[in-house]
Amino acid sequence: MADAAVKQGPAAEVEQELTDGFHLVIDALKLNGVETIYGVPGIPITDFGRMAQAEGIRVISFRHEQNAGYAASIAGFLTKKPGVCLTVSAPGFLNGLTALAHATTNCFPMILISGSSEREVVDLQQGDYEEMDQLAIAKPLCKAAFRVLHAADIGIAVARAIRAAVSGRPGGVYLDLPAKLFGQVMDATAGKKSLVKVIDAAPAQLPAPDAIKRALDVLKGAKRPLIILGKGAAYAQADDAIRSFVEKSGVPFLPMSMGKGLLPDTHPQCAGAARSTVLAQSDVVMLIGARLNWLLSHGKGKTWGAEPKKFIQIDIEPKEMDSNVEIVAPVVGDIGSCVNAMLAAMGTWPAAPADWMKTVTTKRDENVAKMAPRLMNNNVPMDYHGALGVLRTIVKERPDAILVNEGANTLDLARGIIDMYQPRKRIDVGTWGIMGIGMGYSIAAAIETGKPVLAIEGDSAFGFSGMEVETICRYKLPVCIVVFNNDGIYRGTDVNSVSSDPAPTVFVKGARYDKMMEAFGGVGVNATSPDELKRAVNEAMDSGKPTLINAVLDPAAGSESGRIGNLNPQSVLRKK
Ligand code: ADP
Ligand code: MG
Repeated sequence: MADAAVKQGPAAEVEQELTDGFHLVIDALKLNGVETIYGVPGIPITDFGRMAQAEGIRVISFRHEQNAGYAASIAGFLTKKPGVCLTVSAPGFLNGLTALAHATTNCFPMILISGSSEREVVDLQQGDYEEMDQLAIAKPLCKAAFRVLHAADIGIAVARAIRAAVSGRPGGVYLDLPAKLFGQVMDATAGKKSLVKVIDAAPAQLPAPDAIKRALDVLKGAKRPLIILGKGAAYAQADDAIRSFVEKSGVPFLPMSMGKGLLPDTHPQCAGAARSTVLAQSDVVMLIGARLNWLLSHGKGKTWGAEPKKFIQIDIEPKEMDSNVEIVAPVVGDIGSCVNAMLAAMGTWPAAPADWMKTVTTKRDENVAKMAPRLMNNNVPMDYHGALGVLRTIVKERPDAILVNEGANTLDLARGIIDMYQPRKRIDVGTWGIMGIGMGYSIAAAIETGKPVLAIEGDSAFGFSGMEVETICRYKLPVCIVVFNNDGIYRGTDVNSVSSDPAPTVFVKGARYDKMMEAFGGVGVNATSPDELKRAVNEAMDSGKPTLINAVLDPAAGSESGRIGNLNPQSVLRKK
C-alpha cells in the first residue's frame, strides 16, 4: 500500500477506502448474526465495545467477566447460536475462562474473545502490560482456540470460531485478538471480501437406519422402560418431535434438571417424583441428550438397582458411547434427526407394560401427596418448603417465565418442588454444579428471550455474582431475584468454638440483600413469610421492575451440601 501511495501520489491514498481490525471483527460478527456481546470494557477492547454498539450490536457491560461469560454461555444454550463474551487481556481473560470451561463442560456454544498484549514481547517474556500466553492457556479448556495476527484473516477466524462452537457437540471457543490487530488497516473492498458468512454452521447429523432399528427393537423388548431427557434434548430445539416420540412410546420419562419442561412435569408419563424407583427398577433406559456422568451415578451402583440394564443412547458425540457403561444401542446424530427417524420407523407401537406404569404412577402419586402439605405451610421464619410452595404456584401461573436457580439446598429442593411446563425455562448450575451463574444467566435470559426472569438463589450462591444487580438495574431488565437467606452456606448455625472468628460457613446474621437492589434504584423487599414472599414476587413479575426479595429463612433450615453431602470426604482424625 505504501508503494502505491508513492506511485500514485497522496491524493490517491486519501481516496482509497480503508477498514481496520476493529471494524472487520464487528462486520464479521454482524454478518453471522451476532446481535449481542456480553463483556467488560478495558484495554485493548474499550473502543471495540463503543464501535460495536455504534454498529448496532447490543453491548452488555458487566461488572466482572465471569458473569459476562456465564451470560454468553447460557445465551448459547437458549438460542443455539454461540454466545459471545468480550474481555480484556490476562486478568479479564482468566476471569472469562471459568465461564468458557463451563460452556465446554455443559456443551453450550460460546466464543470468548479476549484482547491480548504484544506477541513479540509476550513470547520473549519481557514483561508486557498484562503479559500472558492466553492462547496456550485457553486450549485445554475449550473445543478450539485461534489467534489472529493479520486483519485479512479475521473473517476466516470468526467463521471457524462459530463453526467450532455450534457444530457436533457444542462447546466453548477462544479467539485471541492481540491489541495491534485492532488498529491494522486494509483496503475496505478487500476487507469485505475477506469476510465469511458461515453456511449451515451446525449441519444435521443423520443417524444410520440400522442404529435406529436396533434402538427401537431394544426399547420394544423392554418390560420396564425409561426415557431420560437431558439438557442436550432441550438444547436441540426439537420439542415437538421429542414430545411426540415420548407420547407415542408411552414410556415413563425422567427429565434431568435442565431437561425439565420439554414435556410438562405434570404430564401423566412424568416419573420425576418417582426418580429412585425408575432408576433402580427399569430394565431398558433410553438416554436422549444426557450423559451417564456423576449426575446419573455413572449408570451403575446402588442407584441403578440390582436389575441388569440395557442402555440406548442418543447423542451427537460418538465418543460419549460406552463412556461409563456399555451402550447396547448407540444412536449417533443430532437429536432432532434421531428422534424424527425413530418416529418414522416406529410403526404401530405397543402400549407400555401396564404393571410397570402402575408401579411408577403409584410411587409418583404417593410422593407428591406426601410433599403437598409441607408446601402449604406458612411458617415464620420460613423453611424451604413453605417458601418454595408459593414460588411453585407462581411458576405454574407464569409458565413462560425463565427460572434461574442456584445454591445447595435452594437448588436441590427447588428442582424437585417447582414443576416446569415449557422447554428451556429452567437454567441452573449444570454439570459442575457451579455457583455464580445466577446473575449472568438472569441477564442473558432476559435479553435473549424477552421473558420475565425469576432467579431463586441461595444467599451464598448469590454472593458470587451479586454485584451484577447494578447491571440488571442499568439495563432495566425484568429480573426478580429471591435470595433464600438462611445466614450462611448450607445453614447459618455453625459455631466456631475456639476463637471469636465466625465459623467458615456462616455469614452476617440478618443481612438485608434487598438493600443492595435499592442502592441502584431497583425494588428491594424484605419478606418474612410465604404470604409476603408471594405478594412481592407477583408484584415484581407484573411490573417487570428489577427486584430483589430478601426471603428470611430459618438459619437452621438446610442440610450440609444439600443432597450431595455424600461427596464430602470424611476425616477419621476429626475431633467431634
Ligand atoms: P444433563 O446434565 O441434562 O444430563 P448432559 O450435559 O450430561 O445433560 O448431556 C448433554 C448431551 O447432549 C451431551 O452428551 C451432548 O453431546 C448432547 N447434545 C447436545 N446437543 C445435542 C444435539 N443437538 N444433538 C444430539 N446430542 C446433543
Ligand atoms: Mg444459605
